[in-house]
Amino acid sequence: MECPHLSSSVCIAPDSAKFPNGSPSSWCCSVCRSNKSPWVCLTCSSVHCGRYVNGHAKKHYEDAQVPLTNHKKSEKQDKVQHTVCMDCSSYSTYCYRCDDFVVNDTKLGLVQKVREHLQNLENSAFTADRHKKRKLLENSTLNSKLLKVNVFGRRV
Ligand SMILES: [Zn+2]
Ligand SMILES: [Zn+2]
Ligand SMILES: [Zn+2]
Repeated sequence: MECPHLSSSVCIAPDSAKFPNGSPSSWCCSVCRSNKSPWVCLTCSSVHCGRYVNGHAKKHYEDAQVPLTNHKKSEKQDKVQHTVCMDCSSYSTYCYRCDDFVVNDTKLGLVQKVREHLQNLENSAFTADRHKKRKLLENSTLNSKLLKVNVFGRRV
């Protein structure tokens, strides 16, 4: 659905240095350290678990809400609301205020930028992992070659 809260909620830099290391799909909840179903807040880039784990992403949204009785403060806080978050594995965006998935984007296309950044992080983590494995493989073939040379050398 179209979410009207994006402009007031999505305000992180898409290449935020605040993001954790490693692939987004393995990020841990900052509260319970679970890495099942991580969601990143598009306001402050903190990572929390989804509602099928311990629901800390929702808790994060609820904690950020200003009590209605505090009018002065709520005016100020109106600009920053932690209502929109993104699934770190499927990159779908969810708004807790709308209580639904979000299909639209900010004027600057920030949601898509964050999505692409997460995808890049995921891919580079994957490539790094593959690179490591290939290196290991290369080393072991090198070792077995050396071994053969040694055996051969001994025979001669
Ligand atoms: Zn919304
Ligand atoms: Zn959690
Ligand atoms: Zn937040």
